[in-house]
Amino acid sequence: MEYEIVISHKTSKDLVAVISKYWSFKDEGFVYSIENINKELSRLKYTQSTILDKSHCILHFSNCTLCFSSYEKIVTSRKEFLNEVNSQERVCNPCQSYSPKYLEGVSTIFPTQESIDELSDLEYRVLIGIIQLRDKMLIYKHIFNNDLENQEIWKIINMLQKKRIIWIERTNDYKIKSFKFSEKIPELIKNTQRN
Ligand SMILES: [Zn+2]
Repeated sequence: MEYEIVISHKTSKDLVAVISKYWSFKDEGFVYSIENINKELSRLKYTQSTILDKSHCILHFSNCTLCFSSYEKIVTSRKEFLNEVNSQERVCNPCQSYSPKYLEGVSTIFPTQESIDELSDLEYRVLIGIIQLRDKMLIYKHIFNNDLENQEIWKIINMLQKKRIIWIERTNDYKIKSFKFSEKIPELIKNTQRN
């Protein structure tokens, strides 16, 4: 997950430095403790509410669980930031508002052992290929054998996507960036009785 800090105009340099520290996030945690931030703020004669008045963060998520598109969330406090980052429910706002699937509960659409066991041998072979090869160009080479027009393979890929076992990450102009799968999938495959 990437994020950007948005700071209002006419914020003093000193305050910008503290704001950057306030939002600084790495490896699942904030880099600077609140005590540390408060100390700097009191030196400048500000409080935490000054930071929240003058700044917010935009989180960039690479894919919505329901529509697979990348999306952004605006957060206005560390608490909201953490809630979004730790949420199992990675869903964009429009899907949250309009998708009937969202009402069924996002957890029900995650792939299960059954989704793997149900795959045909061919689907399973392609899935293992995607997991082992990972790299887009290797997938084109060894699964598609360089024939990107191969509709049979696309059918399989689409089926795997429909079952939410894999998804395709795309660039803004809708070109394929990479093939993705959730960390749960290799675990599920280990438990699969198949040669
Ligand atoms: Zn969505």
